[in-house]
Amino acid sequence: MNSTTAVKDPVCGMDIETASAAGQTEYKGQTYYFCNLQCKEKFERKPEQYLSKSAGTPKSGPGCCG
Ligand SMILES: [Zn+2]
Repeated sequence: MNSTTAVKDPVCGMDIETASAAGQTEYKGQTYYFCNLQCKEKFERKPEQYLSKSAGTPKSGPGCCG
C-alpha cells in the first residue's frame, strides 16, 4: 500500500499530503506538517497561536504587553 495522508498546514491552512510536506514537527505528541519551511518556523515559534485559532477567541484576556 502506498497511501498518503491528507493533512492541513496549521499555519496557512493549506491542504497538503504528508508525503509531499516540506517539513514536519512534533508538538505535544502530535505531528504537524507544513507546505514549506517558513510555515514550519512560524509554527515552532508560537505553536499555540496556530493551534488555538479554531477557538475563535479574540484578544480579550488579561492584557498582553508587547
Ligand atoms: Zn504553509
